[in-house]
Amino acid sequence: MTRIDELRANLAAVHDRIARATADAGRPDGDVALVVVTKYFPASDVRLLAGLGVTDVGENRHQEAEAKAAECTDLGLRWHFIGGLQSNKAAAVARYADVVESVDRAALVARLARGAEDAGRVVDVLLQVSLDPPGREHRFGADPATLPALADEVARTPALRLGGLMAVAPLDEDPALAFSRLAGIRADFLSRHPDATVLSAGMSGDLEAAITVGATHVRVGSAVLGSRPTVQ
Ligand SMILES: *Cc1c(COP(=O)(O)O)cnc(C)c1O
Repeated sequence: MTRIDELRANLAAVHDRIARATADAGRPDGDVALVVVTKYFPASDVRLLAGLGVTDVGENRHQEAEAKAAECTDLGLRWHFIGGLQSNKAAAVARYADVVESVDRAALVARLARGAEDAGRVVDVLLQVSLDPPGREHRFGADPATLPALADEVARTPALRLGGLMAVAPLDEDPALAFSRLAGIRADFLSRHPDATVLSAGMSGDLEAAITVGATHVRVGSAVLGSRPTVQ
């Protein structure tokens, strides 16, 4: 099988899973968008995916993302930054990312805005919320209690547009349980920011559970591209 045949077959299978889960949740066809996570895979794969109709790609490491986006400017893709964001890289990320999904603290906001302004663009921002059970060291994402202040800060920043929320289910818990907490957090959030309707949740292993609780975007890597090297 050539690479494009492999990607085409994998994409079809993922679209099928999304369509089935969307219908099972009683949601309209086309309600859930696919972001293909291309981290660790070459720009040549991104090019093949664009040819197969992919419009949105996700990356989690700044240098790799910046280089790939520069190689693929002719493709008209939307680039989603989904990785942990160092403060000193935030301005640079906002120059090429169309959506920054991993905003988890106020210190990032002014830096992202500076990068977006320098590039003369408005960047969509999702707030990454931690789904780790209370009491655990929060590894990724904002504590839900800090979301209102963080959201207000983004909403009052002209170079940024508050799009909604993003989350990753913890590895050691049933994703359906974690995503049910997410649904509650999102309902609170939407009562204050009713236009920020994006919910980015669900990956190769748990996209069905995320769609059940209302995900509007799923971020799928290995089910489309194959398994990644385990060591970076
Ligand atoms: C890598 C990654 C994904 C995709 O994971 P798969 O299991 O390969 O689908 C989704 N979201 C984030 C934040 C990631 O880092």
